Amino acid sequence: MIVKRDKLTFWEKLYVPAIWGGLKVTMRHALRKNVTMQYPEVKWAVPPGYRGAPYLVKNQEGRTKCVSCQLCEFVCPPKAIRITPPGPQGAPGAGNVEKGPQAFDINMLRCIFCGYCQEVCPEEAIFLMKDYSLTGLTRGEMVFDKEKLLKLGGVHDDRIQKWEHKAEEAAHQGVAP
Ligand code: SF4
Ligand code: SF4
Repeated sequence: MIVKRDKLTFWEKLYVPAIWGGLKVTMRHALRKNVTMQYPEVKWAVPPGYRGAPYLVKNQEGRTKCVSCQLCEFVCPPKAIRITPPGPQGAPGAGNVEKGPQAFDINMLRCIFCGYCQEVCPEEAIFLMKDYSLTGLTRGEMVFDKEKLLKLGGVHDDRIQKWEHKAEEAAHQGVAP
């Protein structure tokens, strides 16, 4: 089958109009407002209530809020949480905590950011933060340990203030808190 091609006109043979047309498109895009996000230096502003990575938090007195009840470990659908309870009594930063976690790991490769751990936690000790971009060079790096989770979680305003009640009760009963 022979394809019949239209003959080029004089202007088409010059190629100048086609080059000019291409340059016009290039200039139009060059002068447009930049729409490319400079990721990762610039990141999306996520909406309130966004469910990102789960981290442990401390109260405003710097105490670990988790009491290693293991409810989050039990409820986590992909079994991403591993807790080793309890921590030694009087561990640094433990304060009056009777049963702080000795180890608390979350495998971020398994986590599906469902928020069940946050929902179930009786101590408001774990929250899904806004981090959505978690990277690591190895699988091991993606298992966040207690220290890392607490560092990333930071301080959360503790509305329960149970430590103060405990200290008050201890003082009232003449027992050292
Ligand atoms: S957000 Fe869901 S999957 Fe992730 S650690 Fe919590 S319960 Fe498990
Ligand atoms: S984070 Fe909350 S639910 Fe999980 S072990 Fe600690 S206190 Fe229990």
